[in-house]
Amino acid sequence: MPANVTSDIQTDVINVNPVEHSRLPGVDLNNPGFGRLFADHMFSMEYKDGQWQNPAIVPFDKLEFMPSLTALHYGQSIFEGMKAFRTDDGTINIFRPEKHHERLNKSCRRLCIPEIDQDLFMEALQTLVKLDRDWVPEKKGNALYIRPLVFGTDTHISVSEAETYRFLIMTSPVGAYYKEGINPVRLMTSSNYVRSAQGGAGNVKTAGNYAASLLPAKKAKEQGFTQVLWLDAKEHKYIEEVGTMNIFFKIDDRLITPPLEGTILGGITRDSVIQLALEWDVDVDERHITIDELFEASGKGSLQEAFGTGTAAVISPVGRINHNGSEIILDENQIGPFAQRLYNELTGIQYGEVEDRHNWIYSV
Ligand SMILES: *Cc1c(COP(=O)(O)O)cnc(C)c1O
Repeated sequence: MPANVTSDIQTDVINVNPVEHSRLPGVDLNNPGFGRLFADHMFSMEYKDGQWQNPAIVPFDKLEFMPSLTALHYGQSIFEGMKAFRTDDGTINIFRPEKHHERLNKSCRRLCIPEIDQDLFMEALQTLVKLDRDWVPEKKGNALYIRPLVFGTDTHISVSEAETYRFLIMTSPVGAYYKEGINPVRLMTSSNYVRSAQGGAGNVKTAGNYAASLLPAKKAKEQGFTQVLWLDAKEHKYIEEVGTMNIFFKIDDRLITPPLEGTILGGITRDSVIQLALEWDVDVDERHITIDELFEASGKGSLQEAFGTGTAAVISPVGRINHNGSEIILDENQIGPFAQRLYNELTGIQYGEVEDRHNWIYSV
């Protein structure tokens, strides 16, 4: 690692144990791929005897656990995903970290995992990103993806909430989601599977939600679609979300997105998009919308745009939607003007090119 990095990074609270040799010289940050490459360090903290303890930054490396690790058997595991961006003057901008912390704790509460203090979370994040700041790619569109993870670490196989946990933050330089321009995604509804039901855990970021979505996603891919557009579990007619992204439609100049009523993950990109649209005097309806209404709007020519929102892709235009064999074809080649405007504004704020009027940026 660069010689100048360690000295100013020690904190009172967090023990910093830097790597002897950075792996960075062997890495091409212009082509990092997505989520397979990890920076030199990670933050790690344990929960035992009723409290979080031993916060430390250590080399990103293997962990050792017993085969009876509770998280592996019963899925007490939650995570977050956010990004840090390098601006032209070298500042590193993290997008809405307090909001991600708030959601992390919401996920923790749902799975009986002890919550994590906000000040400690922010200090861990800042110290880690500062230490690995050279891993934040320079190229526009690329970023440092930040993955906090919490899981139960008891070593018994009786079903109960664990008494011990591990909290990690790892970071991964990632490329732009779209290599050549923005390619609209193709979505299909699923008639056999649901992602989430009222009272379940669909509104928090748990590992189990993703595990259960892999088979339906695989089947959608086999039929030529990018992802599943989930419908509600009860009546199977209301549009919910995409499972990695929230969904928006522009119909008759109004922006429509399903409401957060317990089965949909409250995306932070979703929240940002709603705020921007309202500021631009676009009417936003957080309301139920059926798949039939969407097909009707498309038939009448009033469906103007459809796009997904999420940290990974920011804005992801939808080119095609298949439901029981019928299809809505939007624009399969390019992003719509409103989605493009949102994309420009959000990435502009993230890369420090557009004024951060909302205090969304946390600079390190
Ligand atoms: C993370 C996630 C999203 C997107 O949330 P962002 O905060 O915008 O990244 C949407 N749906 C699900 C199920 C998710 O896990």
